[in-house]
Amino acid sequence: MRDSILGLTNPLIALLIAGVFFVIWSKDKDRRHVLGFSLAYASVGLGFLISQLLPVSFGRASVHLSTVPYYIGGSLMTWAVATRVNRPAPVRALAVFGAIAGVMLVLGLFFGDFTTSDLYLSNTLHALVFMMGAQATASTRHHSLPNAMIFWMLALTSLQFFVRPSLTFMIDGALVHETYRDSTYYSMLNATVALISVGLAMVLIAACVADHVGREKRAIQSDPLTGLPARRAFEEQVEATMLRAEDEGVPLSMVVGDIDHFKKVNDIWGHQAGDAAIAEFGRLIARTIRDGDIAGRIGGEEFCILVWNCNELGAVGLAERLRKRTAEIKLDGDTALDIRISASFGVSELVPGESYRSHFGRTDAALYRAKENGRNQVIAASGELISPDETRRDLANQAA
Ligand code: GH3
Ligand code: MG
Ligand code: MG
Repeated sequence: MRDSILGLTNPLIALLIAGVFFVIWSKDKDRRHVLGFSLAYASVGLGFLISQLLPVSFGRASVHLSTVPYYIGGSLMTWAVATRVNRPAPVRALAVFGAIAGVMLVLGLFFGDFTTSDLYLSNTLHALVFMMGAQATASTRHHSLPNAMIFWMLALTSLQFFVRPSLTFMIDGALVHETYRDSTYYSMLNATVALISVGLAMVLIAACVADHVGREKRAIQSDPLTGLPARRAFEEQVEATMLRAEDEGVPLSMVVGDIDHFKKVNDIWGHQAGDAAIAEFGRLIARTIRDGDIAGRIGGEEFCILVWNCNELGAVGLAERLRKRTAEIKLDGDTALDIRISASFGVSELVPGESYRSHFGRTDAALYRAKENGRNQVIAASGELISPDETRRDLANQAA
């Protein structure tokens, strides 16, 4: 009886942690990985319950059946930590290991005796699952403290699955399922898994908090006029995206756009009209870019876009679309005047190994040439003037 009550500690801790992650997820349902943490703990909790409560009279099933939710829990954890850092989860490898675990389960249930080699194999599978989680976390190159803590916790988890069985079998000798729950192996398993599940939960909760603070910080750093990230937040996002693009071998391009003769907009139509022009231009950019792209307001009326998975030609296409749509923006100020604006754009593709500063410098130089060349046009760093002349209209001429 006393053992049974003590044995309930592990499942209850795991289910409690599952509940904590569920509450965290319910506050921001876009964070699917947090739901993954919750389901992983729920699954492991279920495994504990089965291994604790299924009567020994169930025979080998009492040992083998609990490995199914353990395995699902481990796989969900690996999927969740990979998703958290935007890495693809090793779904295929997990499925292969899962199939092996399934075959083992069937063999264990219906054929042969329960042996220590079953336990070795099952521990090794778990070790590999957690090792893949650690590997996914390490592959981000975004070496934040939460990432490092998650990596070490998963690596430690993986390692103990390798080491613990051999150590405990030295004490136990051969195991049969009738004596399984009285074995040193079983006690050590429960003790280590309890420590690990609590330790990992602490690390993951700390990571959730750090992620949340990071998102709040980015929200604060966004520019109130356009809702886009302001310069610093934009640059932080760019640096992280550049590392990811390098990892994944994805080309990046940059577009820098600046409203033409903006001082005149302020001078002729007033500061409020100027603000409205910036807001409209920012909104135009926000709705024109695709999901993986990042845009930011980096100066008064100057915006920068990092274009994901795009070469110079594609980015020129984007800049051209923006240029044409800028000319269509209508600002209805108090004056009832039809205020029209134009913008110039510089475009360039990231050279492998190039820094953000250098990439920005080359794109800004292309923008400068677009200004020099008469404005309301797109110039690529590779040298081409893109915009056809007949669609160009200069605000200076309009105002004159
Ligand atoms: P160019 O075609 O060469 O870009 O000419 P420009 O007049 O746009 O050049 P410049 O970049 O020197 O002028 C930017 C002006 O934008 C100067 C500044 O007063 C104004 N400005 C900067 N931020 C804001 C803002 O938030 N609101 C408004 N209304 N004006 C701003
Ligand atoms: Mg300007
Ligand atoms: Mg400017």
